[in-house]
Amino acid sequence: MTDITLVQGDLTRESADAIVNAANSSLLGGGGVDGALHRRGGPAILAACRELRAGHYGKGLPTGRAVATTAGDLDARWVIHTVGPVWSAGEDRSALLASCHHESLRVADQLGARTVAFPAISTGVYGWPLEDAARIALAAVRAADTEVEEVRFVLFDDRAHAAFAARLGRLR
Ligand code: ADP
Repeated sequence: MTDITLVQGDLTRESADAIVNAANSSLLGGGGVDGALHRRGGPAILAACRELRAGHYGKGLPTGRAVATTAGDLDARWVIHTVGPVWSAGEDRSALLASCHHESLRVADQLGARTVAFPAISTGVYGWPLEDAARIALAAVRAADTEVEEVRFVLFDDRAHAAFAARLGRLR
């Protein structure tokens, strides 16, 4: 069974086989953790994203899907880019948020990654309430059929870490 671990910290400093990026569909970088990963990972990641846009992903990466590139200078072999859904009060988009986790792990399996580090997808600019995002993310990973041995959620601040810890405690 996949181990789920939580740490508080900066995803750009993590060491893992694959680091998941909360990207946007353009794949060309943005703010938040996306910008931070590109800054620390260097230009090779953006170059690989541009190649994806020039090829199979001409219209960008759809919400809920995932695709891998080099990790550049990060302490990882791959970055797996996934596009979280923007929070909506009027529409239930939780299946898309779960899909980000399932698709990222499917890509990780294809690559042979055994340790995968995730941020709290959609909980920044995309506005998802932390407790709800934690519930969906952890349930999705728990339910995944994957060869990945460790999924590590790297939570940037106290509040995010507390929300994930509370929910993980309830799963155990
Ligand atoms: P989204 O657009 O999916 O909401 P954001 O990057 O705005 O993505 O935020 C996702 C989460 O990543 C937020 O909880 C934010 O606090 C967190 N975050 C931002 N920078 C980092 C970082 N360097 N390491 C880990 N988490 C980060």
